Amino acid sequence: MRTHPIVLIPGDGIGPEVTAATKRVLAAAGAPVEWVECQAGLAALAQGREVLPQDTLDAIERHRVALKGPCTTPVGEGFTSVNVQLRKQLNLYAAVRPVRNLTGVPTRFSDVDLIIVRENTEGLYSGVENQITEDAVMSMKVATQTACVRIAHWAFRFATRRRRKKITVFHKANIMKMTDGLFLRSARRVHQHEYPNIEYQELIIDAGCMKLVQDPSQFDLLLLENLYGDVVSDLCAGLVGGLGVVPGANYGERGAVFEAVHGSAPDIAGKGVANPLALIMSAVMMLNHLAEDLDDAAAGACAERIKAAYNQALEEGQKTRDLGGPLGTDQFASAVIERLR
Ligand code: NAD
Repeated sequence: MRTHPIVLIPGDGIGPEVTAATKRVLAAAGAPVEWVECQAGLAALAQGREVLPQDTLDAIERHRVALKGPCTTPVGEGFTSVNVQLRKQLNLYAAVRPVRNLTGVPTRFSDVDLIIVRENTEGLYSGVENQITEDAVMSMKVATQTACVRIAHWAFRFATRRRRKKITVFHKANIMKMTDGLFLRSARRVHQHEYPNIEYQELIIDAGCMKLVQDPSQFDLLLLENLYGDVVSDLCAGLVGGLGVVPGANYGERGAVFEAVHGSAPDIAGKGVANPLALIMSAVMMLNHLAEDLDDAAAGACAERIKAAYNQALEEGQKTRDLGGPLGTDQFASAVIERLR
């Protein structure tokens, strides 16, 4: 059997707990992977290293696939987000977050099945902030035609491959006529010229958010610039049970990094109660990526077995605290492992 070298970044906060649980599940399922463990974030700093060490970046460039735990970013001061640096340096320009109801996790809505595609490299994440006067500071929102067209192409291509019927762009081009205007015009042009078969909709983001919480089933694939994608991802997580159940992937030309939408959750770190499911689901996305891009059917079969096992666990009430259950991180991983067929 082929095995794939995968860079594993445990991260910090709940990161090491949920990555350890995910590794156990993948090992029990016989996933064709071989971990290449690298550091980033507070874990790297604690070893007296850069927050994003060059050898971590080199390893991802070399092996092209990584599974990453969350990394803490200091609020209002300190170093630039490791996550943002990683996405920019490796040009992982497309973030994908599938948001679906799980049968074992009842929520207000039962028919949510949408995909968020977020531009991952620019917008207000340019990191360009200046002190203008003693009174005023400024943050620069950047949009380039290259990145706007690139993410629009990526989203329409992805929608076509996944047989998605409709793309909705959330924007604020009524106010940010240049930056959001460029994002919107790029998506509109790609739709008109190349993908007229896919239904296309534009919504101002405030109204879009209201519609999302009224009836999320009216959406299929959402295309958003960086900050809107970040905020709307958490909003959508709330529709299906919270941050514990939403996986994610960051794709670029030179590699793919799989990680949950959630952060390092310092409020519960070290307590053994974090839900590892979002990272397990991200690992399932990773195995499907290996199946599709590297033509490895064994990885795809393994992904299906893990998915069936966690669905069965949830349906039988085996859940972590965030989902109203009694289990800790490791106990949930064991519940999934016991149901692997
Ligand atoms: P968070 O996602 O870490 O936590 C928000 C809330 O959700 C908390 O109450 C937390 O306990 C809960 N939660 C999150 N994941 C959970 C899980 N797996 N199981 C159970 N409960 C879970 O967001 P935050 O508190 O705003 O951010 C904490 C840190 O994480 C910040 O430094 C932020 O910058 C960072 N962050 C990192 C990433 C990443 O590495 N990709 C993403 C988002 C936030």
